[in-house]
Amino acid sequence: MKKHLFINGDWKEAKQYAPLYSPYSGEQIAEIAQADEADVEEAIQAAQVASKLMARMPASQRAAILEKAAAIFEERQEELARMLAMEAAKPLRTGRTEIARTIQTYKFAAEEAKRIHGETIPLDAAPGGEGRLAYTVRKPIGVVGAITPFNFPFNLVAHKLGPAFAAGNTVVLKPASQTPLSALILADIFAEAGLPAGALNILPGKGAVVGEKLVRDNRIAAITFTGSPEVGIAMKNKAGLKRVTLELGSNSALIIDDTVEITQALIDRCAIGAFSFSGQVCISLQRVYVHESKYEEFLEKFKQAAEKQVLGDPLDEATDMSALISPKDHQRMAEWIEEAVSQGATVVTGGKQVTDRLFAPTILTGVKSDAKCSCQEVFGPIAVVTPFASFDEAIDMVNDSRFGLQAGIYTRDIQKALRAADELEAGGVMINDIPTFRVDHMPYGGVKESGFGREGIKYAVEEMTELKLIAIKL
Ligand code: NAP
Repeated sequence: MKKHLFINGDWKEAKQYAPLYSPYSGEQIAEIAQADEADVEEAIQAAQVASKLMARMPASQRAAILEKAAAIFEERQEELARMLAMEAAKPLRTGRTEIARTIQTYKFAAEEAKRIHGETIPLDAAPGGEGRLAYTVRKPIGVVGAITPFNFPFNLVAHKLGPAFAAGNTVVLKPASQTPLSALILADIFAEAGLPAGALNILPGKGAVVGEKLVRDNRIAAITFTGSPEVGIAMKNKAGLKRVTLELGSNSALIIDDTVEITQALIDRCAIGAFSFSGQVCISLQRVYVHESKYEEFLEKFKQAAEKQVLGDPLDEATDMSALISPKDHQRMAEWIEEAVSQGATVVTGGKQVTDRLFAPTILTGVKSDAKCSCQEVFGPIAVVTPFASFDEAIDMVNDSRFGLQAGIYTRDIQKALRAADELEAGGVMINDIPTFRVDHMPYGGVKESGFGREGIKYAVEEMTELKLIAIKL
């Protein structure tokens, strides 16, 4: 299967193609066009031309296109979940959840398209402002460059296309090299939904070629990036005056205090948080701080839950966890665990590969706070569990991180819950849930090295529009 570039409503052959392999089976599943600089140039020009049409398109029509796209996703959900299993090794059940969320994201975008509005400004509040009527409107920003990661290739792309089209913008999309199929299929879905040619251009290819040109080109009005902190931070330095939204990584933490019963429901949430999609989730539960009075009980039950995870083929209905995105990541997991153990950590369960494609869900204790498994983003199936004696200490340990995407706390003590809400350094605090909770209309984004700006359709629309003031002298 040969997949081309999608520019200005047409498929275009590229000069070069690269093989795409399934992370689980290792089989070649497609040959993917690799865009070069000239292709990016063509896509930007097409998006610029189409941006005039999109900016004039009535809100009802933009909403209808997004609604139709959501409806097509609904009809094709099983096929799309299978695509995720093939190219990302996402287990079918996890993939179906992603598709269900993607449908929600496009539906929220359709609704948001209808309520992009400004406000009236009482200019007479300032001396000299009398006799004027003023109001604001939100104008589409123009061409949006969207650069996306491999881990939620449908839903995180939807978080870029949805608000961009809702606001009347056009997009040049550069998907992750490992997950181009899920992006390229959007060409058909949006064409069927009625999106004009040029409004969506899809350019698989190398980050250092396609991504780099999008970030530097002045005709791109906004870059919306989801990916690793290293790439994102470098991007902000190159983007000049264009709008930049960065959704980056984290080493998310959870506090479980002494007022909480260690129920099976809590353990199940922690297992989902730590091991879903093998921990390759930006708000995966990586650090768990448990009050010392509950520590042993939590650890024993959490270990049992980890050992119940079913590892295997992503296309198998029973599978909870499958291959990590690349063999390099298996190697990295092993090295990081080895480093922690050499500094005195204990492997409670897992800690090694079970086959050449599968890594066991792993729980570590006694990990030093400066060990990579704790202070860097693991992005794999490793959770670090640490006891604490005082609540102050727990808050300090969560905050002892260069990241701050989301944090969680389980407590029955309202004072502690509100203190955590106030003091935890994160873009979102989940009380009585894991940090991994997200639905698609909530404001979502990080502080510190976890990012810049917010997604969640309404908030992304703000990032992708320009506020304009109109003042009329009466
Ligand atoms: P990544 O390696 O940073 O790649 C993300 C995207 O950036 C890919 O499309 C990649 O292309 C591209 N890229 C690479 N180098 C580039 C450059 N120099 N200029 C422009 N673009 C470049 O991240 P990933 O491994 O796919 O995804 C995992 C990371 O994403 C984790 O850190 C995770 O926490 C983060 N993430 C954050 C959120 C959030 O909402 N905060 C959500 C999901 C994931 P190639 O694939 O071709 O290299």
